[in-house]
Amino acid sequence: MMTDKQIIHDENEMMSFGGQIAEKFPKGGMVFLNGDLGAGKTTLVRGLLRSLGFQGTVKSPTYTLVEPYQIKDRMIYHFDLYRLADPEELEYIGGREYWNSDALCLVEWPEKAQGFLPEPDLIIDILYRDTQREIITKPSITIKNKDL
Ligand code: ADP
Ligand code: MG
Repeated sequence: MMTDKQIIHDENEMMSFGGQIAEKFPKGGMVFLNGDLGAGKTTLVRGLLRSLGFQGTVKSPTYTLVEPYQIKDRMIYHFDLYRLADPEELEYIGGREYWNSDALCLVEWPEKAQGFLPEPDLIIDILYRDTQREIITKPSITIKNKDL
């Protein structure tokens, strides 16, 4: 059913969902991650990177704005624009070069750079439902739960 709510029950399912996003964008793309602080945006990115084989620490790049990951032949850029004061700051850090490449870009707080980022290929909204999360995707994709 089209209106089915997609619920992520716990952190592991959020990580698994991240892995599904990696599979959907083998040739790169622009993904916006919307959700309040603590919603699980970074957890999704961590799961995505783990699914590609990255073992190290994955944190929101709150002060550096972007964290690059090269995993085998794939480039992943994880942005956290929460502290972005002016979209022009993205210009200084070479933003365009990131998304004009065939990298996969995952952007937390994209609204902070409105008008500067390209159109996303996918928008993921993460909403608090107590300890669970509801996910809305545009365009709509079906989450395979309990992968792990
Ligand atoms: P954000 O990047 O959106 O600020 P984080 O991913 O850094 O959020 O943090 C999310 C926190 O919420 C983590 O501590 C995680 O363990 C916890 N959490 C609890 N339930 C869930 C869930 N269903 N999905 C994702 N994270 C969850
Ligand atoms: Mg984060």
